[in-house]
Amino acid sequence: MCEKTSENFPSTTAEFASLPTLTVAPKQVMRGFGILAQVGDILARFGRNSLIIGGDSSLSVTLSRLQPALAAQQIVTHPGSYRPDCSEASLARLMAAVERHQADFIIGTGGGKSLDMAKLVAHRCNLPVVTIPSSAATCAAWTALSNIYSDRGAFLYDVPLDGGCPDLLILDYELIATAPKRTLVAGIGDAIAKWYEASVSSGHSEQTLLVAAVQQARVLRDILLQKSAAAVEQPGSEVWREVVDATVLLAGAIGGLGGAQCRTVGAHAVHNGLTHVDPEHHTLHGEKVAYGILVQLRLEEMVQNNQLAATARQQLLKFYGEIGLPATLDDLGLENITLKDLKGAAEISCGPNSDIHRLPFPVVPDQLLAAMVSTTATVERLGNSQSVERVGSFPKE
Ligand SMILES: [Zn+2]
Repeated sequence: MCEKTSENFPSTTAEFASLPTLTVAPKQVMRGFGILAQVGDILARFGRNSLIIGGDSSLSVTLSRLQPALAAQQIVTHPGSYRPDCSEASLARLMAAVERHQADFIIGTGGGKSLDMAKLVAHRCNLPVVTIPSSAATCAAWTALSNIYSDRGAFLYDVPLDGGCPDLLILDYELIATAPKRTLVAGIGDAIAKWYEASVSSGHSEQTLLVAAVQQARVLRDILLQKSAAAVEQPGSEVWREVVDATVLLAGAIGGLGGAQCRTVGAHAVHNGLTHVDPEHHTLHGEKVAYGILVQLRLEEMVQNNQLAATARQQLLKFYGEIGLPATLDDLGLENITLKDLKGAAEISCGPNSDIHRLPFPVVPDQLLAAMVSTTATVERLGNSQSVERVGSFPKE
């Protein structure tokens, strides 16, 4: 459901528009193995003429599975690529395609960027949108937010899609199972960041929904710590499906429940800076975010003498080693990055509007740089913790 909340009852549309909006969930979620062939009836509710947005491979793999459903209901689909990126230029081109084809609704398929583009095109054109993730790499199929990048993949800004929940999310595990193992691992990195960021941005809140969002983020972390290694080893298994639900659905639900106040912090700020250093480099969003968690924890250790952050970082290093998440710049393929480029990334991550400033202490680029190159440092004995509890239950050996 999409839910708008307000503290009092607005009398005009303008007044209503200025009030905080909480977009909680897609209106409907369908899950199952091989269900794409059976969704014709439900798609036909949105119309008979659609624009389907994805990347080259996600379009072909999804359309081949969707074809029986489309044919049964005589639904026409016009494919549209989000390439070169989820950018303003692609948005303008795809909005023109909607106009040209007189589309009734939008289908988005693929990873985070395709889905973000589809949601934004639908939002701008005031059309319904159906999301069909083709991997478990992000929770973009759920969230009412789109990230905008340059045509070369550098992060620029995000757009909240107020009232722009996907109308339908179709999670076909058979489709997800065709994606490379690396996409699930990246999704685990992006999802586990919810705890390390939400506990900083909202961990001290007394507001009921924020308390709930932070606690759900803790539950999500524990599920991932306990089940990820087995899930990565056994695609298609029960435990794999639970981890897919965690990265695609629960991570999205937490973002919805927490709303604008339950924000990303250091891990995503580091990701955003890195996208400017090497936009052509093909590391996934969740891989950069996972590295960013370690950088954020390292900052908490270095600036605050936070012992719990140090312990959490050691725990994550072990976990990353088990499932193959990157822990260092080398692991991200940035072993040859120049000091100048690294400083440039740190400066972007510390920009005036960066979420890194949600940390409870000021951060300057030199400190961030020092944290970025020491994510695997051994732990010295530090002073007392000044932060919230960070150490989770760990999978039994
Ligand atoms: Zn993310």
